[in-house]
Formats: sequence, C-alpha cells, structure tokens
Amino acid sequence: MSNKSRRDFLKKSAGIAAGAGALSLLRAEKALARSERLRQRLGVRRVDRPTYQTVGEVERFHSRNTAFSRAVWDVTSPNHPAYPQQALGNARRAQDVADGTAEDGFRHPEFALSDAGTLLWYTGFGFMVTHLWEPFLKPGWKPYECSPEEASQLLKIAAKHFGASLVGTTKLNPNWRYTHRYHDETVKRRAAGPLGRALGVNPAHLATPVEDWVAFDTPPVDEELPPEMNNVVSVAVEMDYQMFRTSPSKIEWAATTHAYSKMKYIVMHLAQFINNLGYRAWPYGSGGPVLSIPIAVDAGMGELGRNGLLITPEYGPRVRLCGVITDMPLAQDRPIDMGVWDFCQTCEKCAKECPAGALQFGEPTSHKKFRTTAAGVLKWPVDGEACNYYWATEGTVCGNCVSKCPYNKPWGALHRVAQVLAPTMGSLWVKMDDLFGYSDKIPSQPFWEQDPREFPKRGPFQD
Ligand code: SF4
Ligand code: SF4
Repeated sequence: MSNKSRRDFLKKSAGIAAGAGALSLLRAEKALARSERLRQRLGVRRVDRPTYQTVGEVERFHSRNTAFSRAVWDVTSPNHPAYPQQALGNARRAQDVADGTAEDGFRHPEFALSDAGTLLWYTGFGFMVTHLWEPFLKPGWKPYECSPEEASQLLKIAAKHFGASLVGTTKLNPNWRYTHRYHDETVKRRAAGPLGRALGVNPAHLATPVEDWVAFDTPPVDEELPPEMNNVVSVAVEMDYQMFRTSPSKIEWAATTHAYSKMKYIVMHLAQFINNLGYRAWPYGSGGPVLSIPIAVDAGMGELGRNGLLITPEYGPRVRLCGVITDMPLAQDRPIDMGVWDFCQTCEKCAKECPAGALQFGEPTSHKKFRTTAAGVLKWPVDGEACNYYWATEGTVCGNCVSKCPYNKPWGALHRVAQVLAPTMGSLWVKMDDLFGYSDKIPSQPFWEQDPREFPKRGPFQD
C-alpha cells in the first residue's frame, strides 16, 4: 500500500470510528430520556426519601463479615467447613460430565459457557477495584469544570455508552461504607487454599508467596476514602431473563458470570473517563468499600425487596450492581416508589421458593438477626450463610429469589400493567403468576436451540 493510500485508509478508519462513537453516545442519550419516560408511564414516583427506613443507629461492619468472606477465613462460621464443598460440588458435577451422566443445565457446554463468563471478572484475581484511581490530565489541562447536573449527565451517558443497563447518581451516605475492606490478599489466600487447589490454581502463579500471608486489616474505609469522595454513579447490569428461568443451573450461572465481567468492564472504563476529566474515581462491584444495594436505592434505581435485592421497574431483581465513587460534584437522583415495599409485605414468594430457607417470612426487622446482617435498617434479613451453603453443595449458584419474583418479567405491555397494579392486587398477582407458570423452572437444553438472530431478547432500553 502506498503512503497516500495508507493515509486515506487511516483517515477513513478514524472517521468511521468517530462516527460509531458519536452514534453510540447519541443512542445512550436517547435511551436515558426514554427510560425516564417509560418509568413515568409505569407509575414510578420520584420521592424525597427511600422506601426503606433506618431505625436508630445503623451498624456499619467490616466486609470480611459477609457470608462469603466468613466462609473463607472464619473457623467459627457454620459454613467454613462446608466451603471447600463449593469446589467439591463443582467437582461432582464435573465428574458427571466426564462419566456422561450430567443432568440438564450441568453439561459440558453449560460448564464451558459459565466458566468463560468469568474471564474478565477473575482477571487479576478479583475485581481489581481496590485502587483509588487518580486524575489523568494532559499537560496544561485543568479538571473539567461544569455544573453538577451536567457532570451527572456526562457520567450517565458514558456509563450507558460502556454498557450499563441502568444508571443513577447520588451522594454517598456514610452508613453505606464498610468499616474496612476485605482485602485482595485474602482472595489470593483463598486461591491457594482448599478451594483454589480443587479448582486447579497453581500457587506458583500467585504474586505473593503463600507462607508470607498473615491475617491483616486494611486501613479503615473512612481513611481510604477521603470525605470529598462522596458522590456515586450507581450502575445496574441486566442479566438474561430466559437464562435465569433455568435456575439453578450453569446456564443461569453463565448469565451471572457474564454480568460480573461486564460490570468490571463498565466501571473500569467509567472510572478512567472520570480520571480523564480530572477527578478521582474508585470503581467497585464484586468487592469494594461500600454496600451497592442501598446506594442503588438512594440513586433511584429501584426499591429494596424481601429477597434483600434491588427491585427495578425495568428488570425487577434481575440485575447485578456496581458503580464508581468520585470527588466530581454530581447532582442527585431522587429515590423512587413503585410499590415494592408494600407488595413484599403480602407476597412471600421468594421466601417460599428459596431452597435454603435463607429468606424470611413475616414482618421486616431492624434487629441483627444473623451474624452476616447489620442492625439499624428495617428489612427482611437474608441468611447469607444458608444461601452460600446451598450454592456450595449444589455446585452452582441459585437464582430463585431473582427468577421467581413476580417483578422479574420479560418486557411486555401486559406484564407492566400487572406490575403497576401489583400493590392493589396483592396476593392475587402472586397466584396468577403461579397459574401462568412463571414460577416453573425451564430446561437448559432449549437455550442452545434458539434462533441466534433473536438472542438475546432486547429489553425496552436498547435499540
Ligand atoms: S440465591 Fe437461592 S438459596 Fe440464595 S437466597 Fe436466593 S433463593 Fe435462597
Ligand atoms: S418475590 Fe415477592 S416478596 Fe419476594 S422480593 Fe419479589 S415481590 Fe417481594
């Protein structure tokens, strides 16, 4: 190729790339506007206070006290002896594949897909979100100055551009900071322990020699996160509806692992965008210094449900949450009320459908019911250790509290009308849900037989 042709080619390529980027941003802007209009039609009200209530002082806690963390390090956790069984449950399923006896949802292609989804998520042994990312300005540039409203709009568009399904901005309530973070090194230690060995992790590939690892604490989150880091962009990533209906299975796990990899992709790019504007950014997701669910509620993305999850107007609880904490001043979205809190008082479907008995019937409480839950917020506490034990022995995650929730529906006018009427219909909506078969687990095999041109089904907010 001559120099001129090469130049022409490069110019055209640059033009096409710039055009594609601008188109993507335009689409993102349209999607944001359409999202808010659709929410209004769904009867979603913006309110001044979230529908959860705090009662007295909110107990903040060390993130090593979550069910997953305690299963790894805490020998007093009832789940600790069971933890290696997560690998054993997986190994049992893998042996079934080798023996040709694997059941639907746990065959070789399902393993391959779910493990492939972890690729970006597990790169670097974790979410790689434990850094406070510093501003990155070109020589002579200053931090980009704009109103908090414009800044929120910029970051929301960028988040959508990078692949967010939903995005909101809010102030970081100090109650939603952990006291300390569960450190990366602990994850490495897990990788070198029984679970890592069962999964085939070679300790020689770990950066730090295993014998050097000792129990240690990170500095308090309040020291790591300076007070001016008090704005959050909260991001939700949708997971596929049909794949979740196969729960529990490796197909449903594949929807989950892929969501985690997407989360990492989105928040790392979003954090870099904020750094390029001249501000600090700390991306979080699977691990990090803050609790993602109450932040998402504060940012108006949904309400807290009996299942302990965020329930959104668009996807119900079928989302994974992540975000970026920043010192860039942002406008705050107002929380929403779509009737979830009221409906969950009568609907107890997730508690009935939980195979581990981890979800609660009856009234919410603000007391500390389990070692892995904190006091001070009126909610239905989740027995995380019971849930984790079930996952460990089943050899995959379970998503029944997502898939069987009446708010988890594919997009469609009738479903949305029902959703609007849910608080008045009460238990009748739950009965109709069962009657129409929405509680039934579907087989995994048809996942591979669908028309690729129609997969994935498009939601209401994509073109
Ligand atoms: S994931 Fe499954 S086991 Fe865990 S709380 Fe939800 S329904 Fe129960
Ligand atoms: S299943 Fe019912 S009770 Fe549970 S979160 Fe969904 S709506 Fe609420």
